Amino acid sequence: MAKAKIKYMNDIENLTAWFNTSTTIKKPVVIAGPCSAETEQQVLDTAIELKNNGINLFRAGIWKPRTRPNCFEGVGAKGLSWLQSVKAETGMMVATEVANAKHVELALNANIDILWIGARTTVNPFAVQEIADALKGTDIPILIKNPINPDLELWIGTLERLYAVGIRKLAAIHRGFSTYQKIKFRNEPQWQIAIDLKRRISQLPIFCDPSHISGKREYLAEVSQKAMDLNYNGLIIESHCNPSQAWSDASQQLTPQDLGILLQNLVIRKPEVENETVRNTLNDLRFLIDDFDSQLLDLLEERMRIVEKIGRYKKENNISVLQSERWNSILERIQQLGATKGFSKAFINTLFKAIHQESINHQENIMNR
Ligand code: PEP
Ligand code: MN
Repeated sequence: MAKAKIKYMNDIENLTAWFNTSTTIKKPVVIAGPCSAETEQQVLDTAIELKNNGINLFRAGIWKPRTRPNCFEGVGAKGLSWLQSVKAETGMMVATEVANAKHVELALNANIDILWIGARTTVNPFAVQEIADALKGTDIPILIKNPINPDLELWIGTLERLYAVGIRKLAAIHRGFSTYQKIKFRNEPQWQIAIDLKRRISQLPIFCDPSHISGKREYLAEVSQKAMDLNYNGLIIESHCNPSQAWSDASQQLTPQDLGILLQNLVIRKPEVENETVRNTLNDLRFLIDDFDSQLLDLLEERMRIVEKIGRYKKENNISVLQSERWNSILERIQQLGATKGFSKAFINTLFKAIHQESINHQENIMNR
């Protein structure tokens, strides 16, 4: 059922067909600008500096969905004329977020070139349908952020609602997913979900939003590079002429100059395999392997924290490091489990003996401290 629906989405237009930009940056397509439009001066200053750094597509939020009330919720419709000034002064194309039919109407009347649907809107099919209905009959490019929660169907559902009203200039934005766990990023990137999306709708251009993934300037380069390694088509990055004074998302924005440096430093890998489909598939799969390896290490780290806790407890209670019955029962259990997953006894032995030895070393360190 879902497959049949997606099949007819194979006439989604290629990104390069949307933007007749003479950008100096060949790849990726970069959309940059402040999280929020604050004043006309801030908008124009930022846009001019971005333009000087080779950016031709400008973003600024006018209606800001904020997690808590009483934060700066955007300047509202008056910011649209500031975006018009950007177009007139710099020749850039301009983009803003829409979250309801009224926003769409106002943005279309103001000749905004590109719209995006935010993560807090993608989660809500009522809001998405309202936006889709308001867009009927237009062919404005629409970028769809992933929903806050890691739900691929919801993301695809939003694309389908827009496709159904005739929008063909569609692209997705991966901006990371909400998690209650403490992680180094503001929103956890789930690269596999975006890879699955690409598999389901092969024509769909994908942007990465390193700003909302990172939450901090210092991670922007690493996240942007990951997106390039995964063949993302574009980046949408928050940039502000005076980032530390920004009225929203101050810690994740960077100056247009620093953005220029970041983009210059991105390594766009040369294709090692000629066939693009083969290359992309290999790339995606290798990326998943790297991701799993990192996860394995994270798990081992967590396991070691528990081992150390046990070590301290043994010390307090005068118990020796090694209890051989315990180790035998671990090995026995894990070998049975390993066999059900198709792993050889030799492999399980080698792997878990190494883990056990490292655990003993850590516990001995604690005992002899
Ligand atoms: C934004 O891009 O300014 C924004 C609000 O992002 P998100 O919807 O990803 O939180
Ligand atoms: Mn923001």
